[in-house]
Amino acid sequence: MTDNDNWERIREKLRTEYGEATFNSWLKNIELEKIDGGKVSMTLPTRFLRDWVFNNYANRIRQLWCAADDSVKSVDIRVKPLDRKNGAGHKPTFGLGEITETFKGARAVAAETAGQDASLMAPLDPRFTFDNFVVGKSNELAHAAARRVAEAKDSVPFNPLYIYGGVGLGKTHLMHAIGHAIAANCPTKRVIYLSAEKFMYRFIRALRFKDTMNFKDQFRSVDVLMIDDVQFIAGKDSTQEEFFHTFNALVDQNHQIIISGDRSPTDLEGMEERMRSRLGWGLVADIHPTDYELRLGILQSKVEQGKIEIDPRILEFLAHRITSNVRELEGALNRVLAYSDLVGRAVTLESTQEVLRDLLRANDRRITIEEIQKKVAEHFNIRMSDMHSARRARAVARPRQVAMYLAKQLTSRSLPDIGRKFGGRDHTTVMHALRKIEELRQQDVALAEDIDLLRRMLE
Ligand code: ADP
Ligand code: MG
Repeated sequence: MTDNDNWERIREKLRTEYGEATFNSWLKNIELEKIDGGKVSMTLPTRFLRDWVFNNYANRIRQLWCAADDSVKSVDIRVKPLDRKNGAGHKPTFGLGEITETFKGARAVAAETAGQDASLMAPLDPRFTFDNFVVGKSNELAHAAARRVAEAKDSVPFNPLYIYGGVGLGKTHLMHAIGHAIAANCPTKRVIYLSAEKFMYRFIRALRFKDTMNFKDQFRSVDVLMIDDVQFIAGKDSTQEEFFHTFNALVDQNHQIIISGDRSPTDLEGMEERMRSRLGWGLVADIHPTDYELRLGILQSKVEQGKIEIDPRILEFLAHRITSNVRELEGALNRVLAYSDLVGRAVTLESTQEVLRDLLRANDRRITIEEIQKKVAEHFNIRMSDMHSARRARAVARPRQVAMYLAKQLTSRSLPDIGRKFGGRDHTTVMHALRKIEELRQQDVALAEDIDLLRRMLE
């Protein structure tokens, strides 16, 4: 596979992951310049684009490159120098991807095994430290647990530490912070941090090159193993099997394991029962969605770190309106700042609203399952508790099914998630409800109208 093929595939991934609109606005114009000595060089035509992509998509781009090409160590995006005839060339801005600051002291595990490359470990983002992590009610347990693990010198406080929560709420940040802290406090400890995706990729490669002994040795001889986004290996049976054995070997030696996932161990579909129960053995800490105070705190901390001058009312506005997750919140702030930089005017409330129009609308539209249940219950004149109850009488079962149907349509929650919100029902029950309502909608005009009305009210 040539570098250009890899790049084509990465572009396609970015397009599907971020959607057509985002891709066209920001990512389309990235050009691959060259790959040299493990360093990918890419360009964008303007400083504005380059900064924006740097702040918002660089991590993902770097991950995709590392996954596609094992020899890639860093990724760099620069401003493309202008042709001479078009005027003075832009000064290339600083390189981005050179997060070579992995574990300074900690020995890179693979490097010790003769003939192996040292990149078993994914690079750590230098910004993701405990110092930069703002603690609030929603993440205090996960944060405290992460600290405890990072500071434990000779003991293993809980094994594994399992951190879970929705996207963009700080799971990866906490894991990197643990990595940084261990490197600083116990430089002799051998630490590996990598995504479950990369673990699988490594494993497949080991299989292909008949090198599984080496693979096992490497992973089973570390002091601390961190696997990010474990949900990725759900349904990947042989990787899971290997992970299971690695896991057990490390637990047997009393070595620390830290895992993150997007849901609790019990909810990991496609994960073997024995694996799910092992994952829940130690401490399970969930990160909840942020509240207003935490969002404001995070924005203030960013502004302080960057020594940015900005009207505090703008921060309050953002904290109030961008409620989805921290990644989006940070992205919104960056976008507002990049815009003001570009047009050379201070940020105002008006320009903020203007620049973030699409994002604000998307955040407004987020509807919760509780709201849906409430509206539907009111509409059909049943009790809210009937949404969760086991009663099967049609008078309550039908509205409940309608609510499930609307939950699927109006939220991005998965079927198991929806089932849980309806008194812990199974996802197959939800599926059945969706089919049933879909079918009835065709035959029953009154019901179809009810549903349309409810939908309009909710939106
Ligand atoms: P996840 O891995 O849960 O999807 P990340 O750890 O990648 O989320 O976090 C997304 C972004 O939000 C990162 O830039 C991270 O630094 C930032 N972030 C999340 N939570 C916090 C927090 N409590 N304090 C400061 N920054 C945070
Ligand atoms: Mg993450």
